[in-house]
Amino acid sequence: VAPQPDEESAAFWAAVKEHRLELQRCNACGRVRFPPMPGCPYCGALGHDTTEATGSGTLYSWVVVHVPLTPSAAAEVPYTIGTITLEEGCRMVARIDGDPALRDGLALAATYVDHADWTEVRFAAEGR
Ligand SMILES: [Zn+2]
Repeated sequence: VAPQPDEESAAFWAAVKEHRLELQRCNACGRVRFPPMPGCPYCGALGHDTTEATGSGTLYSWVVVHVPLTPSAAAEVPYTIGTITLEEGCRMVARIDGDPALRDGLALAATYVDHADWTEVRFAAEGR
């Protein structure tokens, strides 16, 4: 399902279209956060700078989807959705491509899938 960027997430999705991960970094405490939001979830400060993420991370948890949520996804099952801890410290939920031996801490790298009018962030085992 295509995202519907809002004021907070528009910059993230524009960067993703260029195959980059742009994250918010708190001006006050320096922590990096995701998803984009107006205030820091750690210290409450408003505002942020942006930082470009490396796209590297590790697998935190995952689920293998066997029942398609929509008829259009029927040809894609089974597929894996994972929570990835990015090198910058925040977590992101995304599809895990390929068929790696999934385990806690598996090294992953961001990949980008261009759809007709938006780009999707996925992850795959690093080095594949
Ligand atoms: Zn903060």
